[in-house]
Amino acid sequence: MKVKLCFKCKQYVPIRENDYQNSKEILAFDRAHAGHPTQIVNEEEVANLERWMGG
Ligand SMILES: [Zn+2]
Repeated sequence: MKVKLCFKCKQYVPIRENDYQNSKEILAFDRAHAGHPTQIVNEEEVANLERWMGG
C-alpha cells in the first residue's frame, strides 16, 4: 500500500485504489495541503517517517 504525505504538516493519508470513501479522503487531503510539499511513498517508508521527519 502507498500513502500520500505532507512534509510541511507531517500528516499522511493512506491510498487505497477503488475505494470511494478513500478517494474523498485524498481529495480533502489535497485541499488541506494545497501548496504544501507532498509526496506519495510506500507504506514501508512510513515506518521511518517519525525519524526522517525529525520526530
Ligand atoms: Zn500540509
